[in-house]
Amino acid sequence: MCEPRGKRLRRGGSYNRRVPIELEENVALRALNAFGVDARARYFARVRSAADLAMLEDDPRLRGVPRLILGGGSNILFTRDVDGLVVKVDVPGMREVGDDGRAWFVEVGAGENWHATVQRLLDADRPGLENLALIPGQAGAAPIQNIGAYGLELAERFHALAAWDVEARDVVTMSPADCNFGYRDSAFKSTFAGRRVILSVTLALPKRWTPVTGYADVANELKARGIAAPTARDIFDAVCAIRRRKLPDPAAIGNAGSFFKNPIVTREQHHALLAHHPSLVSYPMPGGRFKLAAGWLIDAAGLKGATRGRAGVYEKQALVLVNRGGATGAEILALAREVQDKVREKFGVLLEPEPVIV
Ligand SMILES: Cc1cc2nc3c(=O)[nH]c(=O)nc-3n(C[C@H](O)[C@H](O)[C@H](O)COP(=O)(O)OP(=O)(O)OC[C@H]3O[C@@H](n4cnc5c(N)ncnc54)[C@H](O)[C@@H]3O)c2cc1C
Repeated sequence: MCEPRGKRLRRGGSYNRRVPIELEENVALRALNAFGVDARARYFARVRSAADLAMLEDDPRLRGVPRLILGGGSNILFTRDVDGLVVKVDVPGMREVGDDGRAWFVEVGAGENWHATVQRLLDADRPGLENLALIPGQAGAAPIQNIGAYGLELAERFHALAAWDVEARDVVTMSPADCNFGYRDSAFKSTFAGRRVILSVTLALPKRWTPVTGYADVANELKARGIAAPTARDIFDAVCAIRRRKLPDPAAIGNAGSFFKNPIVTREQHHALLAHHPSLVSYPMPGGRFKLAAGWLIDAAGLKGATRGRAGVYEKQALVLVNRGGATGAEILALAREVQDKVREKFGVLLEPEPVIV
């Protein structure tokens, strides 16, 4: 990796620290998942470096024990205890590592909080992530589902990442092509699932910043605020305001954000659906396909605000499943299945869950 440059962005953290790692047993995971459901881990360890991961590999107590990698727990639903090792990634640090004339490169430790990173970069005059403000979780998980919101995806601001390869027992560098980003998708969900632990992500922040305001909610919010030529800070504030109005705060109501991906259908399917449901909400995609608003489908299936036991469909946004207090992961999963069944019956469309279900 390049030498650090921008001192303003330098923040503690070494990816190679070597101190003994503490292996805990029978650890409660409730405070470590945004749904706030009860689950326990047979083994639990916090890693701050590649060296920590190497130490775990060498631990005789962990031979043959399956691993689950955990970041901020904001995109995971525990439906059972984890009979294995939960590896909580806490790699710290942020530093500017260079530029290529068009973009600044900033390397962020996988354990850094994503929203705090967006905010800190904005404060340091490195805009470009403002549309992704207030997405919960850690920087290291951002590539996993190629986080996206309000007209921007991580892939558009991604330069490279460093990951621990479990089989090679070494650190590898991955380019955008290696990550194979798609809509809420990447190679970490298929080829490299469970095989690579992300240690740091290097972002590419455009030197010539241009606002991303094509998304209707953002455009409307800026208009309502009387802003015609927004700064990055204006967009950041607008996105935060929209999200605070629409989405439940996991600290108050357990949830993992959107529980389902927006399904993508062919032109023909879209045509047929529109004929039966003229108010269908959809967005044209490159290649003639259409993305359907999953929240609209769930609402039209009569499930917005539904409650089943202690699990529910959020009143203000049908795409969000919530823990109304004390729900188990199994209850939330049963509700998710009901939502899938009703939407499939009514529209013939399969909703695919976005969070990882354990
Ligand atoms: C209120 C709310 C709103 C949300 N809004 C959005 C949104 O607008 N857009 C969006 O895309 N997402 C959104 N999400 C989902 C979530 O915030 C993101 O997916 C986030 O990137 C998850 O980060 P995390 O650290 O919490 O990951 P976790 O939930 O801990 O893990 C998610 C997955 O990533 C893997 N993983 C985590 N860290 C690493 C690592 N270092 N190396 C390898 N694998 C790893 C885990 O094994 C797991 O498979 C929202 C969630 C909530 C609760």
